[in-house]
Amino acid sequence: MNRREFLRTSVCAAAFAAVSGGAGYLVTRKSTCDGKRPCDQCPQAGDCADDKALSWRAAQPAAWQIDPYKCIQCGKCATTCVLKQSASRCFHAFAVCGYCDLCTGFFEPQPNQLNTAAENQLCPTGAIVRTYVEDPYFQYKIDRDKCIGCSKCVKGCTQFGNGSLFLQIDQNICVKCNQCSIAINCPSRAVRKVPIATPYLLKSKTRTS
Ligand code: SF4
Ligand code: SF4
Ligand code: SF4
Repeated sequence: MNRREFLRTSVCAAAFAAVSGGAGYLVTRKSTCDGKRPCDQCPQAGDCADDKALSWRAAQPAAWQIDPYKCIQCGKCATTCVLKQSASRCFHAFAVCGYCDLCTGFFEPQPNQLNTAAENQLCPTGAIVRTYVEDPYFQYKIDRDKCIGCSKCVKGCTQFGNGSLFLQIDQNICVKCNQCSIAINCPSRAVRKVPIATPYLLKSKTRTS
């Protein structure tokens, strides 16, 4: 073997070793995806080189949902959904509610009286049903068929009450657009994709942050 042939053989051997080593790494590399959360919530988001995990994730059916802790009650939910009556509706966490007589999610800021007369209510469609429980407690239930997702009650409850009223995209109504129009227009980026198996982001008493 002359000097030129020796060099050519050495370079080829080195190249082969590099390629086969890389291929070996690809074959033996384990998936780091635990499959428990969407990519945008993964601590490795943006740094994932796991093509298998990414394509598996992309193929999973997903639902659009509002993070109630990010929502700033801007009112756009009522007008930016592609549906005539928005799929965003008010939900109520009874475990969080104070059952207040003077409910700041139900009453106008300065009501004439604490009764159910339309002029005293915040809700433009009368979707909140107030029922006497026992002195001094009242229960509030949302008639979601009437709710237009305007967020007025949510704002009142969040600013001055316990925050038990919050918006969610009702999965029985949402037509699951490829790109949610509310998500595009939401100023606080509160709308994101969640797994279809757990499509709600509900409020609970146990949350501490
Ligand atoms: S558009 Fe976003 S911030 Fe505004 S009410 Fe809807 S979820 Fe909340
Ligand atoms: S105030 Fe708006 S968000 Fe609240 S129940 Fe009425 S329509 Fe729904
Ligand atoms: S996915 Fe479409 S139908 Fe559902 S809330 Fe968003 S805009 Fe409305």
